[in-house]
Amino acid sequence: MGELMQGKTALVMGVANRWSLAYAIARSLAREGARLILTYQSERQRAATEELATAFAGGEAAACDVSRDDDLDRFFAGLRERGVALDAVVHSIAFANREDLEHPFYETSRAGFLLAQDVSAYSLVAVARRAAELMPRGGSILTLTYLGATRVVPNYNVMGVAKAALEASVRYLAAELGARGIRVNALSAGPVKTASARAIKDFSKILDEVAQRAPLRRVTDPGEVGDAALFLASDLGRGVTGDILFVDSGCHVMGF
Ligand code: NAP
Repeated sequence: MGELMQGKTALVMGVANRWSLAYAIARSLAREGARLILTYQSERQRAATEELATAFAGGEAAACDVSRDDDLDRFFAGLRERGVALDAVVHSIAFANREDLEHPFYETSRAGFLLAQDVSAYSLVAVARRAAELMPRGGSILTLTYLGATRVVPNYNVMGVAKAALEASVRYLAAELGARGIRVNALSAGPVKTASARAIKDFSKILDEVAQRAPLRRVTDPGEVGDAALFLASDLGRGVTGDILFVDSGCHVMGF
């Protein structure tokens, strides 16, 4: 075991299962000694996430639905009451209606647009505000984004627009929280087969294209995302804030 996160506590939000990018990140942080608090959205996930958490030394799991202010308040108040101080926070959460990822973007409903923005972008602001109060030593807040924020990726649609808002939020949060020693960054991961990714139409075609055209000629391994997150969450990344770090086999540098 390494020591990059020894004595540090990391909150990792968005572990649905072993294939979640959040789980790969949790593994990298735990490998370097972090104490982990994993969150899941609903009771239905409780047993599975608890099982994943207990596999990490000192790991624990708790429910937190980031679309509900009362749930966020309850969860963070619980941490405060127990005297938990956070060093790293990972926000690995997104949601859009499947139909909004299947129909043309111009057909997106008002409700579908707002839902994607709420869960996938605003929730970072809601989490950062509450988490910052538990980061007296400063620390790192990290979110997950995708190339579809700045380029048109077929079928990414309303989620691309939500990721654009998420990336802008990273910059504003970084500017405001920097004075408290809190860094805010995003990892832009290449496509990885996860439960969320399955909602995107023709996702396997995107994977095939990446494997052929990315500079590294292969798709992204979740472990690569985990280790990049470790860099940003630990002191190794102490000079980096407000940034979007691509972990995508180099895909983002390619033209058509
Ligand atoms: P995932 O395993 O399905 O993780 C998404 C997580 O978001 C799930 O744990 C889900 O919980 C949670 N979530 C959704 N709504 C929530 C809410 N209201 N409150 C709390 N949690 C909520 O998929 P993933 O691919 O690892 O996604 C993680 C992040 O990486 C997302 O931001 C995604 O956009 C980003 N990303 C993914 C890829 C990719 O190709 N996979 C590429 C770049 C960026 P439930 O399962 O309980 O709903």
